[in-house]
Amino acid sequence: MVMTPSEILKKYNLSKTLCRIRILDTFIKSQKALSQHDIQQQILSGCDRSTIFRIINKFYELHILYKIDVGNTQKYYFNSSTVFDNNKNRDLVFFHCSKCDKTVPLQDIFIPDYLVPDGFIKHYNNFVIEGLCDECR
Ligand SMILES: [Zn+2]
Repeated sequence: MVMTPSEILKKYNLSKTLCRIRILDTFIKSQKALSQHDIQQQILSGCDRSTIFRIINKFYELHILYKIDVGNTQKYYFNSSTVFDNNKNRDLVFFHCSKCDKTVPLQDIFIPDYLVPDGFIKHYNNFVIEGLCDECR
């Protein structure tokens, strides 16, 4: 299923600004997770750092983006399951290459619904496998 950035913004009742559309478009087309810095590198003009920061955080709050903690940075990945599948958030396992920093989702890994102790509330799973990618090994 293909949804354009404009359609996604409409679904979440967000106004269509140029920066939102460009950032969303960049995430949708990316096969790997991107940091805020990566986004700044790809969107060279028109959107300043603080605007990019605010937009990414908003998308994360709405579960349009996954957040993955790798080392000292946070990376984000377009969460197609939330956007396309009635807001049902599905966890993904990510692989992080410790040499080139590439962070990619691993498809078709079943994640059991891990139980947390009584009284605890789970927000989401955050699974990162560390290692070397096929280009770095
Ligand atoms: Zn690598």
